[in-house]
Amino acid sequence: MDLSSYPRRRYTQGFTPLEHMPNFTKALRATCPDGAGPNVWVKRDDMLGLTPGGNKTRKLEFLVADALAQGADTLVTCGAPQSNHCRATLSAAIKEGMKCRFVIEERVPNTYKLDASGNNFLFRLLGVEAITVVPAGSNMLAAMQVVVDDLAKLGRKGYIVPGGGSNAIGGLGYVACAQELQQQFFDQGVRIHKIVVGSGSSGTHGGMLAGFLGNRINIPLIGIGVSRDPVDQNPLVLKEAQAVCDLLGLNITVPADSVVSHGNWWRPKYSVPNAAMVEAVQMLARTEAILLDPVYTGKIMAGLIGLARQGHFKRDESVLFIHTGGAPSLHAYEAEVLGLAEMSH
Ligand SMILES: *Cc1c(COP(=O)(O)O)cnc(C)c1O
Repeated sequence: MDLSSYPRRRYTQGFTPLEHMPNFTKALRATCPDGAGPNVWVKRDDMLGLTPGGNKTRKLEFLVADALAQGADTLVTCGAPQSNHCRATLSAAIKEGMKCRFVIEERVPNTYKLDASGNNFLFRLLGVEAITVVPAGSNMLAAMQVVVDDLAKLGRKGYIVPGGGSNAIGGLGYVACAQELQQQFFDQGVRIHKIVVGSGSSGTHGGMLAGFLGNRINIPLIGIGVSRDPVDQNPLVLKEAQAVCDLLGLNITVPADSVVSHGNWWRPKYSVPNAAMVEAVQMLARTEAILLDPVYTGKIMAGLIGLARQGHFKRDESVLFIHTGGAPSLHAYEAEVLGLAEMSH
Protein backbone atom coordinates (compact mmCIF):
# COMPACT_ATOMS: atom_id res chain seq x y z
CA MET A 1 0.00 0.00 0.00
CA ASP A 2 1.59 3.26 -1.12
CA LEU A 3 0.45 6.46 0.56
CA SER A 4 3.13 8.55 -1.09
CA SER A 5 1.00 9.24 -4.17
CA TYR A 6 -1.45 11.30 -2.07
CA PRO A 7 -0.64 15.01 -1.56
CA ARG A 8 0.38 15.58 2.05
CA ARG A 9 1.64 18.49 4.14
CA ARG A 10 3.77 17.68 7.18
CA TYR A 11 3.00 19.12 10.62
CA THR A 12 5.04 16.69 12.75
CA GLN A 13 8.66 15.67 12.50
CA GLY A 14 9.15 11.93 12.65
CA PHE A 15 7.04 9.44 14.61
CA THR A 16 5.14 10.04 17.84
CA PRO A 17 6.49 7.92 20.72
CA LEU A 18 5.17 4.44 21.50
CA GLU A 19 5.60 4.26 25.28
CA HIS A 20 5.13 1.63 27.97
CA MET A 21 3.21 2.79 31.09
CA PRO A 22 4.66 0.75 34.00
CA ASN A 23 3.23 2.87 36.83
CA PHE A 24 -0.21 3.12 35.31
CA THR A 25 -0.22 -0.63 34.61
CA LYS A 26 0.56 -1.32 38.27
CA ALA A 27 -2.10 1.08 39.53
CA LEU A 28 -4.69 -0.37 37.16
CA ARG A 29 -3.90 -3.98 38.10
CA ALA A 30 -4.30 -3.12 41.77
CA THR A 31 -7.95 -2.28 41.03
CA CYS A 32 -8.74 -5.33 38.85
CA PRO A 33 -10.16 -8.61 40.22
CA ASP A 34 -7.20 -10.89 41.15
CA GLY A 35 -4.85 -8.13 40.00
CA ALA A 36 -5.34 -9.43 36.44
CA GLY A 37 -5.11 -6.26 34.36
CA PRO A 38 -3.31 -5.78 31.04
CA ASN A 39 0.04 -4.23 30.36
CA VAL A 40 -0.69 -0.72 29.07
CA TRP A 41 1.13 1.10 26.28
CA VAL A 42 0.34 4.54 24.86
CA LYS A 43 0.76 5.87 21.32
CA ARG A 44 1.54 9.52 21.98
CA ASP A 45 -0.52 11.17 19.26
CA ASP A 46 -1.01 13.97 21.79
CA MET A 47 2.55 14.90 20.76
CA LEU A 48 1.75 15.51 17.10
CA GLY A 49 2.35 19.01 15.71
CA LEU A 50 -0.08 21.99 15.81
CA THR A 51 -0.76 23.99 19.01
CA PRO A 52 -0.81 21.34 20.63
CA GLY A 53 -1.33 18.34 18.38
CA GLY A 54 -3.80 15.50 18.44
CA ASN A 55 -5.47 13.13 16.03
CA LYS A 56 -6.79 16.00 13.86
CA THR A 57 -3.19 16.85 12.94
CA ARG A 58 -2.81 13.61 10.99
CA LYS A 59 -6.05 14.11 9.07
CA LEU A 60 -5.23 17.74 8.28
CA GLU A 61 -1.94 16.78 6.64
CA PHE A 62 -3.96 15.24 3.81
CA LEU A 63 -6.99 17.56 3.90
CA VAL A 64 -4.98 20.79 3.77
CA ALA A 65 -2.84 19.42 0.93
CA ASP A 66 -6.11 18.87 -0.94
CA ALA A 67 -7.32 22.39 -0.10
CA LEU A 68 -4.08 23.89 -1.44
CA ALA A 69 -4.28 21.76 -4.59
CA GLN A 70 -7.74 23.25 -5.17
CA GLY A 71 -6.45 26.80 -4.79
CA ALA A 72 -8.30 27.57 -1.54
CA ASP A 73 -7.25 30.54 0.60
CA THR A 74 -9.55 29.88 3.58
CA LEU A 75 -10.34 26.75 5.60
CA VAL A 76 -13.94 26.50 6.78
CA THR A 77 -14.80 23.91 9.39
CA CYS A 78 -17.19 23.13 12.24
CA GLY A 79 -17.26 21.68 15.73
CA ALA A 80 -18.45 21.99 19.32
CA PRO A 81 -17.53 25.00 21.53
CA GLN A 82 -14.40 23.20 22.85
CA SER A 83 -13.48 21.65 19.51
CA ASN A 84 -9.90 20.40 19.22
CA HIS A 85 -10.55 19.93 15.54
CA CYS A 86 -11.37 23.62 15.02
CA ARG A 87 -8.24 24.67 16.90
CA ALA A 88 -6.03 22.29 14.90
CA THR A 89 -7.57 23.43 11.60
CA LEU A 90 -6.94 27.06 12.53
CA SER A 91 -3.33 26.20 13.39
CA ALA A 92 -2.83 24.47 10.04
CA ALA A 93 -4.32 27.49 8.25
CA ILE A 94 -1.84 29.78 10.02
CA LYS A 95 1.08 27.55 9.02
CA GLU A 96 -0.07 27.69 5.40
CA GLY A 97 -0.71 31.44 5.35
CA MET A 98 -4.45 30.82 4.96
CA LYS A 99 -7.44 32.22 6.84
CA CYS A 100 -9.88 30.11 8.86
CA ARG A 101 -13.58 30.38 9.77
CA PHE A 102 -15.69 28.17 12.06
CA VAL A 103 -19.31 27.18 12.44
CA ILE A 104 -19.77 26.21 16.10
CA GLU A 105 -22.63 23.90 17.07
CA GLU A 106 -23.99 24.46 20.56
CA ARG A 107 -24.56 20.72 21.16
CA VAL A 108 -25.38 21.50 24.78
CA PRO A 109 -27.59 24.65 24.81
CA ASN A 110 -25.96 27.88 26.05
CA THR A 111 -22.47 26.36 26.26
CA TYR A 112 -20.85 28.74 23.78
CA LYS A 113 -19.30 31.59 25.72
CA LEU A 114 -17.10 34.10 23.95
CA ASP A 115 -14.78 34.42 26.94
CA ALA A 116 -14.54 30.68 27.73
CA SER A 117 -11.15 29.14 28.45
CA GLY A 118 -9.53 26.08 26.85
CA ASN A 119 -9.78 25.75 23.08
CA ASN A 120 -12.13 28.71 22.85
CA PHE A 121 -9.43 30.94 24.29
CA LEU A 122 -6.99 29.50 21.73
CA PHE A 123 -9.41 30.28 18.88
CA ARG A 124 -9.12 33.92 19.83
CA LEU A 125 -5.39 33.92 20.57
CA LEU A 126 -4.61 32.25 17.25
CA GLY A 127 -6.89 34.70 15.48
CA VAL A 128 -9.85 32.90 13.92
CA GLU A 129 -11.32 35.15 11.23
CA ALA A 130 -15.01 34.56 12.00
CA ILE A 131 -17.22 32.26 14.09
CA THR A 132 -20.88 31.50 13.35
CA VAL A 133 -22.75 29.85 16.26
CA VAL A 134 -25.69 27.58 15.36
CA PRO A 135 -28.07 25.53 17.56
CA ALA A 136 -27.77 21.75 18.16
CA GLY A 137 -28.97 19.62 15.28
CA SER A 138 -28.31 22.27 12.61
CA ASN A 139 -27.25 21.16 9.14
CA MET A 140 -23.54 21.87 9.55
CA LEU A 141 -22.65 21.29 5.92
CA ALA A 142 -25.27 23.82 4.81
CA ALA A 143 -24.03 26.32 7.42
CA MET A 144 -20.44 25.92 6.19
CA GLN A 145 -21.60 26.33 2.59
CA VAL A 146 -23.10 29.72 3.55
CA VAL A 147 -19.64 30.75 4.81
CA VAL A 148 -18.03 29.57 1.56
CA ASP A 149 -20.62 31.51 -0.48
CA ASP A 150 -19.92 34.67 1.55
CA LEU A 151 -16.19 34.24 0.86
CA ALA A 152 -16.87 33.81 -2.86
CA LYS A 153 -18.63 37.21 -2.89
CA LEU A 154 -15.35 38.66 -1.58
CA GLY A 155 -13.43 36.96 -4.38
CA ARG A 156 -12.00 34.35 -2.00
CA LYS A 157 -12.03 30.57 -2.09
CA GLY A 158 -13.09 28.57 0.94
CA TYR A 159 -12.45 24.85 1.42
CA ILE A 160 -14.79 22.87 3.66
CA VAL A 161 -13.00 20.58 6.10
CA PRO A 162 -15.74 18.21 7.32
CA GLY A 163 -16.52 17.89 11.06
CA GLY A 164 -13.62 16.15 12.81
CA GLY A 165 -11.76 16.02 9.49
CA SER A 166 -13.47 12.68 8.92
CA ASN A 167 -13.91 11.77 5.29
CA ALA A 168 -11.92 9.47 3.03
CA ILE A 169 -9.07 11.96 2.58
CA GLY A 170 -8.81 12.75 6.31
CA GLY A 171 -8.90 9.04 7.13
CA LEU A 172 -5.63 8.62 5.24
CA GLY A 173 -3.97 10.23 8.26
CA TYR A 174 -4.77 7.15 10.32
CA VAL A 175 -3.71 4.82 7.54
CA ALA A 176 -0.36 6.59 7.91
CA CYS A 177 -0.56 6.01 11.68
CA ALA A 178 -1.20 2.29 11.13
CA GLN A 179 1.94 2.08 9.00
CA GLU A 180 3.90 4.08 11.58
CA LEU A 181 2.79 1.69 14.32
CA GLN A 182 3.71 -1.35 12.25
CA GLN A 183 7.22 0.06 11.87
CA GLN A 184 7.48 0.85 15.60
CA PHE A 185 6.30 -2.61 16.67
CA PHE A 186 9.09 -4.00 14.49
CA ASP A 187 11.79 -1.51 15.54
CA GLN A 188 10.99 -1.63 19.26
CA GLY A 189 10.24 -5.35 19.36
CA VAL A 190 6.82 -4.68 20.87
CA ARG A 191 3.93 -7.11 20.67
CA ILE A 192 0.49 -5.54 21.15
CA HIS A 193 -2.60 -7.76 21.57
CA LYS A 194 -5.40 -5.18 21.50
CA ILE A 195 -5.77 -1.50 20.69
CA VAL A 196 -8.18 0.94 22.32
CA VAL A 197 -9.11 3.95 20.19
CA GLY A 198 -11.65 6.75 20.53
CA SER A 199 -14.61 6.71 18.18
CA GLY A 200 -16.36 10.00 17.44
CA SER A 201 -16.67 11.39 13.91
CA SER A 202 -14.84 8.10 13.20
CA GLY A 203 -11.95 9.20 10.96
CA THR A 204 -9.51 7.88 13.53
CA HIS A 205 -11.16 4.51 14.19
CA GLY A 206 -12.28 4.01 10.57
CA GLY A 207 -9.02 5.24 9.05
CA MET A 208 -7.01 3.00 11.31
CA LEU A 209 -9.20 0.01 10.51
CA ALA A 210 -8.68 0.63 6.79
CA GLY A 211 -4.93 0.90 7.41
CA PHE A 212 -4.93 -2.36 9.39
CA LEU A 213 -6.85 -4.21 6.70
CA GLY A 214 -4.70 -2.77 3.92
CA ASN A 215 -1.46 -3.60 5.73
CA ARG A 216 -2.71 -6.95 7.06
CA ILE A 217 -2.19 -5.97 10.68
CA ASN A 218 -4.24 -8.43 12.73
CA ILE A 219 -4.64 -6.63 16.03
CA PRO A 220 -8.24 -6.13 17.20
CA LEU A 221 -9.30 -2.48 17.38
CA ILE A 222 -11.67 -1.64 20.23
CA GLY A 223 -13.48 1.65 19.76
CA ILE A 224 -14.80 3.62 22.72
CA GLY A 225 -17.69 5.84 21.66
CA VAL A 226 -17.45 9.46 22.79
CA SER A 227 -20.99 10.39 21.77
CA ARG A 228 -22.85 7.26 20.61
CA ASP A 229 -23.58 3.66 21.53
CA PRO A 230 -22.44 0.91 19.12
CA VAL A 231 -25.77 0.66 17.30
CA ASP A 232 -25.29 4.22 16.03
CA GLN A 233 -21.49 4.40 16.03
CA ASN A 234 -20.50 1.19 14.23
CA PRO A 235 -22.22 2.04 10.93
CA LEU A 236 -20.34 5.37 10.84
CA VAL A 237 -17.02 3.64 11.39
CA LEU A 238 -17.81 0.99 8.78
CA LYS A 239 -18.72 3.66 6.25
CA GLU A 240 -15.54 5.64 6.95
CA ALA A 241 -13.32 2.54 6.76
CA GLN A 242 -14.93 1.54 3.47
CA ALA A 243 -14.54 5.05 2.02
CA VAL A 244 -10.84 5.04 2.91
CA CYS A 245 -10.32 1.56 1.42
CA ASP A 246 -12.09 2.70 -1.75
CA LEU A 247 -9.98 5.86 -2.03
CA LEU A 248 -6.89 3.67 -1.69
CA GLY A 249 -8.20 1.34 -4.40
CA LEU A 250 -7.81 -1.63 -2.06
CA ASN A 251 -10.65 -3.68 -3.46
CA ILE A 252 -11.70 -4.76 0.04
CA THR A 253 -15.17 -5.02 1.49
CA VAL A 254 -14.72 -4.06 5.13
CA PRO A 255 -16.27 -6.87 7.22
CA ALA A 256 -18.99 -5.49 9.50
CA ASP A 257 -17.69 -7.65 12.37
CA SER A 258 -14.29 -5.94 12.19
CA VAL A 259 -15.98 -2.84 13.64
CA VAL A 260 -16.21 -3.11 17.42
CA SER A 261 -17.11 -0.30 19.79
CA HIS A 262 -18.44 0.21 23.30
CA GLY A 263 -20.89 2.86 24.45
CA ASN A 264 -21.60 3.69 28.06
CA TRP A 265 -18.50 5.74 28.97
CA TRP A 266 -19.61 8.83 27.02
CA ARG A 267 -22.71 9.28 29.15
CA PRO A 268 -24.58 11.28 30.30
CA LYS A 269 -23.87 13.23 27.12
CA TYR A 270 -21.09 14.18 24.70
CA SER A 271 -18.63 16.55 26.44
CA VAL A 272 -20.45 16.38 29.80
CA PRO A 273 -18.13 15.11 32.58
CA ASN A 274 -18.68 11.87 34.50
CA ALA A 275 -16.93 10.28 37.49
CA ALA A 276 -15.13 7.55 35.50
CA MET A 277 -13.58 10.23 33.26
CA VAL A 278 -12.32 12.12 36.33
CA GLU A 279 -10.76 8.95 37.74
CA ALA A 280 -9.03 8.20 34.42
CA VAL A 281 -7.68 11.73 33.97
CA GLN A 282 -6.34 11.80 37.55
CA MET A 283 -4.90 8.28 37.35
CA LEU A 284 -2.80 8.83 34.21
CA ALA A 285 -1.70 12.29 35.38
CA ARG A 286 -0.62 10.99 38.79
CA THR A 287 1.09 7.77 37.62
CA GLU A 288 2.71 8.83 34.33
CA ALA A 289 2.40 12.64 34.20
CA ILE A 290 0.45 12.42 30.94
CA LEU A 291 -2.55 14.68 30.43
CA LEU A 292 -5.85 13.32 29.15
CA ASP A 293 -8.83 15.56 28.41
CA PRO A 294 -12.37 15.64 29.82
CA VAL A 295 -14.32 15.42 26.53
CA TYR A 296 -12.55 12.59 24.69
CA THR A 297 -9.46 10.82 26.00
CA GLY A 298 -10.58 10.85 29.66
CA LYS A 299 -13.73 8.95 28.70
CA ILE A 300 -11.83 6.70 26.26
CA MET A 301 -9.31 5.77 28.97
CA ALA A 302 -12.22 5.24 31.38
CA GLY A 303 -13.39 2.68 28.82
CA LEU A 304 -10.03 0.90 28.85
CA ILE A 305 -10.01 0.90 32.67
CA GLY A 306 -13.61 -0.33 32.80
CA LEU A 307 -12.99 -3.13 30.29
CA ALA A 308 -9.90 -4.20 32.27
CA ARG A 309 -11.96 -4.41 35.47
CA GLN A 310 -14.60 -6.43 33.63
CA GLY A 311 -11.90 -8.98 32.73
CA HIS A 312 -11.90 -8.09 29.05
CA PHE A 313 -8.10 -8.43 28.80
CA LYS A 314 -5.90 -11.34 29.90
CA ARG A 315 -3.24 -10.80 32.56
CA ASP A 316 -0.27 -10.82 30.23
CA GLU A 317 -1.92 -9.07 27.31
CA SER A 318 -0.48 -5.77 26.12
CA VAL A 319 -3.05 -3.13 25.31
CA LEU A 320 -2.23 0.00 23.34
CA PHE A 321 -4.15 3.18 24.06
CA ILE A 322 -4.16 5.70 21.21
CA HIS A 323 -3.79 9.08 22.91
CA THR A 324 -5.63 11.37 20.52
CA GLY A 325 -4.78 14.64 22.35
CA GLY A 326 -7.19 17.27 23.64
CA ALA A 327 -5.42 18.69 26.71
CA PRO A 328 -6.42 22.36 26.12
CA SER A 329 -10.02 21.68 27.10
CA LEU A 330 -8.85 20.64 30.60
CA HIS A 331 -8.78 24.35 31.34
CA ALA A 332 -12.48 24.68 30.58
CA TYR A 333 -13.26 21.93 33.14
CA GLU A 334 -10.78 22.55 35.96
CA ALA A 335 -13.18 22.12 38.89
CA GLU A 336 -14.66 18.93 37.42
CA VAL A 337 -11.34 17.18 36.78
CA LEU A 338 -10.11 18.09 40.25
CA GLY A 339 -13.24 16.47 41.66
CA LEU A 340 -14.55 19.74 43.05
CA ALA A 341 -17.83 19.82 41.10
CA GLU A 342 -21.04 17.79 41.28
CA MET A 343 -21.53 15.34 38.42
CA SER A 344 -23.19 12.15 37.34
CA HIS A 345 -21.83 8.69 38.21
C1 LIG B 1 -11.82 14.44 17.68
C2 LIG B 1 -11.20 13.72 18.82
C3 LIG B 1 -11.42 12.35 19.03
C4 LIG B 1 -12.36 11.54 18.17
O1 LIG B 1 -11.78 11.22 16.93
P1 LIG B 1 -12.69 11.01 15.65
O2 LIG B 1 -11.73 10.81 14.54
O3 LIG B 1 -13.55 12.22 15.51
O4 LIG B 1 -13.52 9.79 15.87
C5 LIG B 1 -10.76 11.71 20.06
N1 LIG B 1 -9.95 12.42 20.89
C6 LIG B 1 -9.72 13.74 20.74
C7 LIG B 1 -8.85 14.43 21.72
C8 LIG B 1 -10.35 14.44 19.71
O5 LIG B 1 -10.13 15.76 19.58
